[in-house]
Amino acid sequence: MRKKVIAGNWKMNKLLSEAEQFVETAKTKIPNEDKAESVVCAPFPFLPALVEKAKGTDLKIAAQNMHFEDSGAFTGEVSPAMLKDLGVTHVVLGHSERRELFAETDETVNKKTRAAFNHGLIPIICVGETLEQRENNETMNHIEAQVKKALEGLTEDQVKASIIAYEPIWAIGTGKTATSEQANEVCTHIRKVVKTAVSEEAGNAVRLQYGGSVKPANVDELLSQSDIDGALVGGASLEADSFVQLAEAG
Ligand code: PGA
Repeated sequence: MRKKVIAGNWKMNKLLSEAEQFVETAKTKIPNEDKAESVVCAPFPFLPALVEKAKGTDLKIAAQNMHFEDSGAFTGEVSPAMLKDLGVTHVVLGHSERRELFAETDETVNKKTRAAFNHGLIPIICVGETLEQRENNETMNHIEAQVKKALEGLTEDQVKASIIAYEPIWAIGTGKTATSEQANEVCTHIRKVVKTAVSEEAGNAVRLQYGGSVKPANVDELLSQSDIDGALVGGASLEADSFVQLAEAG
């Protein structure tokens, strides 16, 4: 039985006081982590304060990106060791906005995934196709290539502990959700790819999220699908009450 995991991706939103207020409100209302995991993916400057505020509760605090190197001359970057040291537990890697706007590639996503595990962080690895790729029937091949490359060099246990978020780019921030069938079809494919590339057990254990215009009104149906184990939510995760409703669906 795979435990559901609901992650709120705030992107570049909120000020520190708003972020703290959110955690204050959400931390006691989210479900027990034995039932479902609730994760908030916050901007770097908020992380120490949010980790502190969430301490002793079931709310986990994640980063939205990091560099793959341990330390060194990388002006403006944040290392996995720094995140781990702060008490961050998860990190979003390869979000389509980072791939499109900040030149991330399957190669860098793979390096970051390995670096995350080397430092005890759980990666939330994002994959997804453009509308053009979907219309050209390239979705499955594209997703397969992204997943295989992201997981390259990981141990079986690391793959089992990974979270992969399927986020069709055409559904992000557009209000256009993939139908639950479309979302599940791709997640089923991802699981098959992991089974073939790694092992049957790894494919059964890896947790798959859907992301793209998820909201309280559609989360139940998405989560009821056979291969969807959670959601990565942008817009609808910004309000604490909405995030709590999403978390409760987990
Ligand atoms: P959205 O964003 O829920 O606002 O569509 C999802 C994401 O980018 O992770």
